[in-house]
Parts: sequence; structure tokens; C-alpha cells
Amino acid sequence: MNTIRTCAAVGLCIAAAVAAYQEQREGFKDTAILPGQTWHVHDSDRPYPAVIEPGKSPGAPPSDAVVLFDGKDLSHWTSAGGPARWRMGNGYFEVAAGTGDLKSREKFGDCQLHIEWQEPPDIHGVGQDRGNSGVYLMSRYEVQVLDSYQHATYADGQAGAMYGQWPPLVNPIRKPGEWNVYDIMFEAPRFEDGKLSKPAYQTVLFNGVLVHLHQPVIGATVYRAVAKYSPHSDEEPLQLQDHGHPVRFRNVWFRQLSGYDQ
Ligand code: MG
Repeated sequence: MNTIRTCAAVGLCIAAAVAAYQEQREGFKDTAILPGQTWHVHDSDRPYPAVIEPGKSPGAPPSDAVVLFDGKDLSHWTSAGGPARWRMGNGYFEVAAGTGDLKSREKFGDCQLHIEWQEPPDIHGVGQDRGNSGVYLMSRYEVQVLDSYQHATYADGQAGAMYGQWPPLVNPIRKPGEWNVYDIMFEAPRFEDGKLSKPAYQTVLFNGVLVHLHQPVIGATVYRAVAKYSPHSDEEPLQLQDHGHPVRFRNVWFRQLSGYDQ
């Protein structure tokens, strides 16, 4: 009995010590200020990052993600302002040619975006007419979706390209019929007094492989011309391209980023 009581007392003491330690906050106020910041080295007053739950498996959304498609329905998407007209499949959705681009109902700027896409196994056509779609950040800045498996087009138009601007560093595409993954870290452009004050930047992983590292976006995606910026709001929908080909998508989510450049 005494042993149990002692153990319980020790447990309480440890819990109290941990609580006191956390309340007190480890750190220093007598160290130098970090360059370009307002914080001391190891500053005890520096806010802790939010605690979130990571995805249960690679590619699964973490707890602070906004899920745009979880395999069930297209309720987060619109076609020309109305209900989404693309086709639902078993755990995926597919471009319904001729119905127009799909836009997310949610709007966002700086973000981490996860999206998976697949060229159907019976894909055909050549060049830009082969499994073409696209992921348009802020409805303007396209990361190209195309069947670039053992199939060439112009380099800045192949899968993983920032279309018309930057080819991907490498081509890690999978065969038609297999799922590809984009993880896109996007910094929205900034405008002041109607003029560009900072371009957008993109870092892109394509099937887990780095294909763009903090690459500046030249402007809104165009064909056969040099892209330019036009001012727009801080948050815009995500847009997926209907280029007339039955490309499939699944597992779409984003995390809104804020304060990364503060
Ligand atoms: Mg495209």
C-alpha cells in the first residue's frame, strides 16, 4: 500500500514538475537579437508553432488542411459558377471534355497544395494534344499536366512545367494508368498601387522529386507569348483545365500559409 501511495506521489510530482517547466518556458532573454528578426537567440517568449496532426500515410491531408476532394463528391468545385460538371469515378474525378475548367469554391493565395492526377491507360494523341490538363494556382499560374511518358513536346510545355516559362528540372512521370503526385509550395505575387511588388514563386515536387525550387513565376500563363502579371486579389480559386482530354484527379487538399515571410 505504501509503495502504491509512493508511486502515485512520485507520478504527481513528475507531472507537476513538467507543468512548471512548461509554464516557465525554457529559453533566454540575454542573448543577441537574430539578424532581421525581433527575437533573441533561443527566445523564451517566441510563440510555439501550432501543433497539428500529420496525415496518416504519405500524401494524406494533415489536420490543418482544407480537403477539396476526398474521393466522394465534387461539392468543393464549380463549373462556370454552377455545380461541377466533371465526371465522378470510383475515388476520383475526370475531365468531362467541353464542360470547361473546374474551379474550387475556396479561394487561397500562399499555400501548400497536394493533388494527384492520372493519364488514363488508353490515352492517345500527340504533343500538347495528349492528356493535357493543368493545375492553375490562383486560376492563373499553370503547372502543366500532360502525358509526357516517353513522349515529347516543347520542354516548357511538358508535365511538371511552369507552362511556357520553366521546364521541370527532370521528368519523373509515371506511365498512363498510374497516379502522379504534385506537391506545390506556392507564394502568391504581391501588388502595390496596381503594380507588381513581388512575383509569385513555386517549389514543386513531382512524384516526390524536386522539379522547381523557389522558381519565380514570370506572369499569368499564356500560349506563344511572354507571360505578364495583372493585379488580382490575395486569394483566388484553384482551377483545373479542361483541355478536352479525360485526365483524372484525386486526393486534392491545400494548407493555407501565412506569415512565412514576416
Ligand atoms: Mg495544360
